[in-house]
Amino acid sequence: MQFRDLKEQYRVLKEDIDQAVLNVMSDCNFIGGKQVAELERELAEYVGVKHCITCGNGTDALSMVMMAWDIKEGDAVFVPDFTFFASGEVVAFEGATPVFYDVCMDTFNADIDSLKAAIKAVKEEGKLNPKAIIAVDLFGQPADYSSLEKIAEENHLLLLEDGAQGFGGRIGEKRACSFGNAATTSFFPAKPLGCYGDGGAIFTNDDVVAEYLESIRVHGKGTFKYDNVRVGWNSRLDTIQAAILQVKLKAFCEYEVEAVNKVAEQYTNLLYGVVKTPIVPKEMYSSWAQYTIQLESKEQRDEIQKKLKEKDIPTMIYYPKAMHKQTAFGNLKEYVECKNTEKLCDTVLALPMHPYMKTEEIEFIAGEIRKILDRK
Ligand SMILES: *Cc1c(COP(=O)(O)O)cnc(C)c1O
Repeated sequence: MQFRDLKEQYRVLKEDIDQAVLNVMSDCNFIGGKQVAELERELAEYVGVKHCITCGNGTDALSMVMMAWDIKEGDAVFVPDFTFFASGEVVAFEGATPVFYDVCMDTFNADIDSLKAAIKAVKEEGKLNPKAIIAVDLFGQPADYSSLEKIAEENHLLLLEDGAQGFGGRIGEKRACSFGNAATTSFFPAKPLGCYGDGGAIFTNDDVVAEYLESIRVHGKGTFKYDNVRVGWNSRLDTIQAAILQVKLKAFCEYEVEAVNKVAEQYTNLLYGVVKTPIVPKEMYSSWAQYTIQLESKEQRDEIQKKLKEKDIPTMIYYPKAMHKQTAFGNLKEYVECKNTEKLCDTVLALPMHPYMKTEEIEFIAGEIRKILDRK
């Protein structure tokens, strides 16, 4: 059994993907081919924002927004404690200080009270200049943007949606990657919308930021490539990846997001009351980058993982370590306690999840978990 079955997806889409790749090969426009601009239009339209700027990967996407906002030494950027390392790494990379806030046990996303406390603590201390909030759509579910946008406004902070896992989700009718002042996503193969290598994108309605981003992704170009008006870098989406994503985006919109929601529903029906199943508040729609259950203790979680492995059921622990406990961030001050994150790191377990899962597989996995916990 596969944790995320990319082979089955390729089998289903093979004809179209192969043709899309061959088209790029015969055009020989490997960088900046027409597929890149087409894809950017399609993505912007799907998300419902004015500009989509593709780039090399999801981490570059975050970094480029930090650069566009001139985040630098002495600035504080608020980052969830429970997320993938890159969400905080990009802040430190610019020389600024990531300040970690806690997440909610139910949604795995921003705990608004904790964020407020972190902002207050930084302001009271008076050493750092509070500049921006990064919110993450963890495991596919959008964070609480109505609260986040309000807090950002009240405190004159910029808001960045890290939608690397959230692409395809929505709040009401408003899609993920359309919240805050800018949003980013990743097309890493295992993400909800993945390519066949690295890729990423930035979404914004801000014309000035969009123009800046288009410049820095190509060596700070001005009116053309050999007119360099600022120091930038090289971070672009390959034409081949764009062509693959055009095919995959179609399947994603037509049935994949719906399919993962059906898988999640089946899991929840079979596991509700047996383990803590993920909670999706009423107005939220998840793209289910992960289906994450919570166990009672680290011992129980680790035992279940081991026993499932014996049955050839792969599971993952996202994430075993809080951001504030990472060695690389060892020198950072803790402005607020992140107790929920610490608990989640010990108790979460992500089950196999992808749009091509069969009912028998879901039933088998849930059945094994029930057996291990003696709840037949
Ligand atoms: C995957 C991921 C990233 C980084 O994306 P890459 O394309 O791997 O660089 C950033 N943030 C989150 C939350 C992610 O899950």
